[in-house]
Parts: sequence; C-alpha cells; structure tokens
Amino acid sequence: MAEVTLKAVRKVYAGNVEAVKGVDIDIPDGGFCVLVGPSGCGKSTLLRMVAGLETISSGEIAIGGRVVNQIEPADRDIAMVFQNYALYPHMSVYDNIAYGLRNRGTPKDEIDRRVQEAARILAIEPFLARRPRQLSGGQRQRVAMGRAIVRKPQVFLFDEPLSNLDAKLRVQMRVEIKKLQRALGVTAIYVTHDQVEAMTLSDKLVVMNGGRVEQVGTPTDVYRRPATKFVATFIGSPPMNIVPGVVAGEGSVSVGGHVMAVDDIRAGLPKGAKVDIGLRPEDLVVEPGATDGHPLIEVDFVEELGATQLFHGTLGGAPIVVQCPTDKVPTTVKRLALSIAPTLIHVFDHETGERIGRTFGSVAA
Ligand code: ADP
Repeated sequence: MAEVTLKAVRKVYAGNVEAVKGVDIDIPDGGFCVLVGPSGCGKSTLLRMVAGLETISSGEIAIGGRVVNQIEPADRDIAMVFQNYALYPHMSVYDNIAYGLRNRGTPKDEIDRRVQEAARILAIEPFLARRPRQLSGGQRQRVAMGRAIVRKPQVFLFDEPLSNLDAKLRVQMRVEIKKLQRALGVTAIYVTHDQVEAMTLSDKLVVMNGGRVEQVGTPTDVYRRPATKFVATFIGSPPMNIVPGVVAGEGSVSVGGHVMAVDDIRAGLPKGAKVDIGLRPEDLVVEPGATDGHPLIEVDFVEELGATQLFHGTLGGAPIVVQCPTDKVPTTVKRLALSIAPTLIHVFDHETGERIGRTFGSVAA
C-alpha cells in the first residue's frame, strides 16, 4: 500500500498537444481517487503516466514516497484494470489470472494459493477452467480484477473499467469494486467520464477540464460547493440550473426580477454586478398555490421519473428544471411558484465562472 503524489505533472504529445497542463494531486495510502471529466480532458493520459505507459513531460510522480518518473511500468508495483479487460482469449481464466505471477517466477503453490483466494473473493471459482469467451461481460471484468488482485500491488489503476457493461451490471460492479478496495485497503486511482460513478466510488474526487484540475474534494464537498460553473454543471443529475442574475445588495441577488437572500456570497460586490446563479433542480421547492413573493416559472413540459417529476420551464427567460415529488402538483400546471433556502443558492462570476463565496477542498489556480 502507498500514497501517490503528483506534482506539477504535464504531458505534451507530439504535435504540441498539451494534454495535461500541470496537475497536483495527493492521494493518501488506501484512498480511492476518481479522475472525472469530459472526453479529452486528459484523465486517461494522467492515469497512463502514473502507470508508466506514457512518459511525463515535466513534473514528478511518486508512489509510496519513491519518484517513479524513470521507473519501468513493471517495476512500479501497480496493477491496471482496463475497459476492454485485456484478457488472453486462448488461456483459461486460471491461466489469465496466474499469468503475471508466472512471469515473475512466483513459486507454483504460491500462485495457486493466490489465484484461489482471488477467485473466492470475486466469486469466479466455478469458472477457472473456462476461456474468457465463455464468460459474461461482468465475469470477464472480475477476471481482469482477479489478475490485478493476485499481484498484491501498492496501487490499483482503473481506466473506465465498467464502460462495456450494461447499466444494471455497472451499478452492481461499482459496489463490488468499492467493497473490494475497502477490504484490501489498496490505494486506487479510477478514471471515468460518468459523474455518478465518480461520486459513489471516490473519497477524493478530482474534476478535470481541458488538461487542468478544476476542483479536488470529497464528493459531498464538490457537490455542495462547486468551485466553478463547470464543476457545478458537471457534478449532479439532472445538472445544476444556471440562470442570469445581478447583485441586489449585501447578501442578496435578483433573478428574473425576484430578490433572493444568499448566505454564501462575498461582501462588497457592487450592486448591479452581473452574476450567474446556480440552482440545483432538487433544491428548488415547489410552493403549490403560492404566487406572491416567489419566483415563478413558466412550465413547458414534465418528465415523470416515478418518485419524482421534472418540470422544465423558464425563469426570467432562462431554461430551468425543477425536481418535485410526484403528485405534489398536477402535471398540467402551467406556472410554478418556487422557493429555495439561502444556503443552497450558488453564485458564480459571470466572466470567469468561478464561485463567489467559500469553497470546500482545494481549488487549482
Ligand atoms: P480523456 O481520457 O479525458 O478522454 P485523454 O487523456 O485520452 O483524455 O486525451 C487528452 C488529450 O490528449 C486529447 O486532446 C487527445 O486527443 C490527446 N491525445 C491523447 N493521446 C494522444 C497521443 N498519443 N498523441 C497525441 N495526442 C493525444
């Protein structure tokens, strides 16, 4: 087990593509760090640099206190699980799991002990004699994890390992990966573009955008106090609404002509300054029957999700989504009066997109 430290890590590919633009991350021993961001933000490149599959253009990566920049992948004491499983089709499940250990000259009885143990942990004992093609996607992914476990690495690296599975299996495997990592206590770095996976798996969430870190924090901190508009709209489902507003006074903003109290806003902002207001669909409270003194939205259409309904409409001309418990108001309603707690209103600088107010966790410059 080991901590992993990235200091000012950069990657410039041939052709001057700067995929990673100076990233600092500290992952404690036994921590579960998820790198999340849209396609092309540099998260796989970063993971591959930790694995040693890509060279580091500048900066430093250390695993367990040892700088690994110049160390071969095989000597970094890491195990990687890929999206495509990377299993050998002509080998049995047993041989696939044992392969790396045999290559290292591990004694036969030690290999057998470790393979059996991994198979027991992953519940794949009945399949040890099968070939990968005789397994389901979920079982194949377990074999790939078995191969990682038997190595007893200091760090697990996961590159979108659940992308090839159907939605139900993804949820199941997500829970299994988390339980497994907890049980083994091995430091993990996990790359995904799926914000739900990122939230549920991580204890350290790193949101990336355009080769940079936008925010690092616990999933709850990042959800509650997104550092930027980008993070605000990337983390959370349905995404946070962003509506135009202006500073109305000390501790208040005006949206669509309605003045709303805000807890978390920097003092001394000039009155009338343009800001962007973030309102999570699940934080907006529908006030049936109310009209006066509440922001009103004009409803366009309603999506029914079972337990809740999503009302789509406009507030002050900007599109907005409100999540409301089913049956609280009829779905035929044309206008909805809303309220929201002052602690749940997010304010962002209209120009820079940065949060105006306090932020949890560290925020990259
Ligand atoms: P992500 O994993 O977040 O989707 P990547 O790390 O794969 O992003 O890619 C980051 C950026 O680097 C992208 O713009 C991609 O096109 C570029 N890139 C990735 N691999 C290479 C490569 N081998 N050569 C040149 N550019 C690359």
